[in-house]
Amino acid sequence: MIRLRAGSATDVGLVRNNNQDSLLVADPLFAVADGMGGAAAGEVASTTAIESLESAFDAAGHATPETLIEAARSANRAVWEQAESNPEMRGMGTTLVAVAMLEDGRLGAINIGDSRLYVLREGSLRQITSDHNLVAELVAEGRISKEEAEVHPRRNIMTRALGVDPDVPVDLFVEDPVAGDRFLLCSDGLPRELRDDHIASLLNRLADPGEAAKELVEEAKRRGGNDNITVVVVDVEDPEKETAAVAVTPAPPPEPSGRAAAAEAAVSAPLPQPKARIVTLRVAAFFVLLLAIIAAAAVGIGWYARSGYYVGLRGDKITIFQGQPGGVLWLHPTIADATHTTTSDVLPHQVPRLRAGQTEPSLEAARQFISRLVAEAQAARAAAAPPPAAPPPAPTTTTQPAPPITAPPST
Ligand code: MN
Repeated sequence: MIRLRAGSATDVGLVRNNNQDSLLVADPLFAVADGMGGAAAGEVASTTAIESLESAFDAAGHATPETLIEAARSANRAVWEQAESNPEMRGMGTTLVAVAMLEDGRLGAINIGDSRLYVLREGSLRQITSDHNLVAELVAEGRISKEEAEVHPRRNIMTRALGVDPDVPVDLFVEDPVAGDRFLLCSDGLPRELRDDHIASLLNRLADPGEAAKELVEEAKRRGGNDNITVVVVDVEDPEKETAAVAVTPAPPPEPSGRAAAAEAAVSAPLPQPKARIVTLRVAAFFVLLLAIIAAAAVGIGWYARSGYYVGLRGDKITIFQGQPGGVLWLHPTIADATHTTTSDVLPHQVPRLRAGQTEPSLEAARQFISRLVAEAQAARAAAAPPPAAPPPAPTTTTQPAPPITAPPST
């Protein structure tokens, strides 16, 4: 014969203004809910979910997997109806994870959302529930790694929540409990700060469930406390074998019975889940749209980057470029016409303008611009040259006697 002993702790954390998590410790039923919604709506959602779960489970009169699922569905309905009838609570929702001792001696668990149920068995920690959020699904599909998931910008997007639709698919898990097992229910504020091995070592170190719950919450706060943190620790005990075990050191649970083959029947019996798919499709549609926008932007930027011409410099060579001066992002301008004109063919005060890049609407306009600069320089030189023609061409500049100039026929 086994019995359960539980401890719990909850905290607003260090960043949020209010605690929207709720918890339930009512042997044989234990639960954690993490509400979301503006103002007080998140708290209302999680409290309502927990209260309706408990009353529906009690009212059922039997503790079976079916009554547990039904209790979760009626909790969903209760939150949904409240959101429907109160405009200021529209859109509120909550996660719900719960575990209950069933009448056949097994433990049943249900889950909706991204709160979690773990079991610590013989010292090692295993997550029983799957998170109903986008990155967990990407990990499950092998699209991203667990490490990438931890820092993924969209790790908060849930794909299933309680109270946002009139009905919700409920994940069910059934476990054969073994004395020494320790079940952990928590809101995402805990795994957000602590890795699984960290959680495991704390659970292994602290024998008392209340102390363990409190320490987990404190440690999550020390590591950032970015969200509300709620923890319920449920220990499975065998009173007959207890006396010896408890008196000894609070080390990793001793395993008195050699029940190696304690049929680890973590049977997941997911019900038909049309709603989850719809939500997932919505998320997929969102990403398709997002990709389309990004692609359109890329095409637009590419077009802009390639549009127009400008006259600039490569070294001292005056060159016509296609594109935008300086380039756009990684798109560099390309050479449209490498003329033979150099900075010495134009007036010195025009050089900075060329260095900056003189934008022109077309290739032809760019060529005409260069011709004008060259003509301007030639006119200036002609004016400066002394008309009396004794020693013939005596250029005032020290450059070599101007070579036959440029592509455009100098006028
Ligand atoms: Mn949370």
